[in-house]
Amino acid sequence: MKIYDVIIIGGGLAGLTSAIDLSLSGFEVLVIEKDEYPKHKVCGEYVSNEVLPYLKRLGIDIEKTNADQIDRLTLSNRNGKSVNVKLPLGGFGMSRYALDYLLYEKAKSNGVKFQFDTVTDVEFENEKFCIKTNRKELYSELAIGSFGKRSTLDKKLERDFIQYKTPWIGIKAHYRSDDFPSGEVQLHNFEGGYCGLSKTETGAVNFCYLTHYDSFKKEGSVENFNTHILKKNPELKSFLDNSEIIFDKHIAISQVSFQNKSAVENHMLMAGDSAGLIHPLCGNGMAMAIHSAKLLSEEIKAFRKHKNRNQLEENYSKIWKQTFRKRLTFGSLFQRLLLQPKLTNIGMLAVSKSPYLLKKMIQQTHGKPIS
Ligand SMILES: Cc1cc2nc3c(=O)[nH]c(=O)nc-3n(C[C@H](O)[C@H](O)[C@H](O)COP(=O)(O)OP(=O)(O)OC[C@H]3O[C@@H](n4cnc5c(N)ncnc54)[C@H](O)[C@@H]3O)c2cc1C
Repeated sequence: MKIYDVIIIGGGLAGLTSAIDLSLSGFEVLVIEKDEYPKHKVCGEYVSNEVLPYLKRLGIDIEKTNADQIDRLTLSNRNGKSVNVKLPLGGFGMSRYALDYLLYEKAKSNGVKFQFDTVTDVEFENEKFCIKTNRKELYSELAIGSFGKRSTLDKKLERDFIQYKTPWIGIKAHYRSDDFPSGEVQLHNFEGGYCGLSKTETGAVNFCYLTHYDSFKKEGSVENFNTHILKKNPELKSFLDNSEIIFDKHIAISQVSFQNKSAVENHMLMAGDSAGLIHPLCGNGMAMAIHSAKLLSEEIKAFRKHKNRNQLEENYSKIWKQTFRKRLTFGSLFQRLLLQPKLTNIGMLAVSKSPYLLKKMIQQTHGKPIS
C-alpha cells in the first residue's frame, strides 16, 4: 500500500503553496483537486504584496508576470462620493485563472503528484489517513484540508460553522474597459454590499461583489441587480455603462461563511479558508491562505524531526490564532462599518484627511511582508 508523506485536499492557493513548500523540502506530496486547471473563481483578485518575498523564495516571481502593480485605493460611498489614497504596501492584480495555474505548474515541476477527483471522506486510524475519493482510497501520514470556504467535506466532518446558514453571496465577471486605470483597486459601496474593481494580468477588469442573498433574490437576476441596486452608486453606474462583459455570464457562489473555524479537525491540518475566512473587503484572504501554508509547512518540517502529532497540532493551532485571529476580528468590524452609510461617510472623511489612519486600519487586517 502506497503511503504519501502528505495528501493535500484542495488545490487552491493554500493547498498549492503548501505543496510547493513541502516538495522543496523533499516531502512526497499528493494534491487531490476536484477541478482541472486553469479555472475562474469568484474572488476580488487583489493580492496583498505581503506574499511577494515568500513566493519569490518558493521560486515564483510575480514581478516577472503581467500582474497589475497596485498602489492606490479608491473608496466610494453609496452616493458615489469617493476618496483616492495611496496604499502603504500595495498589492497586485492577477486573475485566479492565471495565479492558481502558475502555482500548479510550479508544484508539478517540483514533482508534486495531482489527482483530479472529489474527496468524499477522510478517516484517521492507526496514525494514518485514508482519503476516499469518488474513484479510490489513498493513504498518507499527514493530511492538509485546504478545500476552501465551504465543501461537502465540511458536512461530512460535522464542522460547527456548517450548521449555520449565511446570507452572503459573491458574484464576479471580467469586463473590458478602456477607461479603468492601472495601478488602482476600487471598493464601491451599494445598498447591502460592496463591489471591488481592479485590473488583471490580461488588462481585463475584475468586477466582484459581495451582497445579501435576500436583496439579490428580489431582483431575480444579476443583470437586474446590477441595474437597480449597483447602478445607484454613480461610480458603479459609470463603470457598468462604459464597459463590456467578457465572460459568457457572471459566476456566483453562495453561503459564504465568516464563522469561526478550527485549524485542526480530526487530525487534519486546515489551511486557507478551511481554517478561517476574512471579510473580502480587507483584500487579505489570498495572502492569509498563502501565509497559512507557510506556517503549516514549517510545523510539518519540525514534525519530521520530533514525530509528535499532538505537538504538531497544538503548535499549528497556536501559531494560526496568533497570526490571524486579530485580523478576522477587525475584518468583521470594518465590514459592519462599511455597511452602515453614516459610518462609511465619517470613515471616508477621516481616511481622506489622514493617510496615517488608513495605514493603521490596513495594518489591522494585513500582515507584514512574509519573509
Ligand atoms: C466575493 C469574494 C471576494 C474576494 N476578494 C478577495 C480579494 O480581492 N483579495 C483577497 O486576498 N481575497 C479575496 N477573497 C478571499 C479569497 O478568495 C480566499 O481567501 C482564497 O481563495 C482562499 O484560498 P484557498 O486556497 O483557501 O481556497 P480556494 O482557492 O477556494 O481553493 C479550494 C480548492 O479546494 C477544491 N475543493 C473543494 N472541495 C473539494 C473536495 N471535496 N475534493 C477536492 N477538491 C476540493 C476547490 O475546487 C478549490 O480549488 C474574496 C472572497 C470572496 C468570497
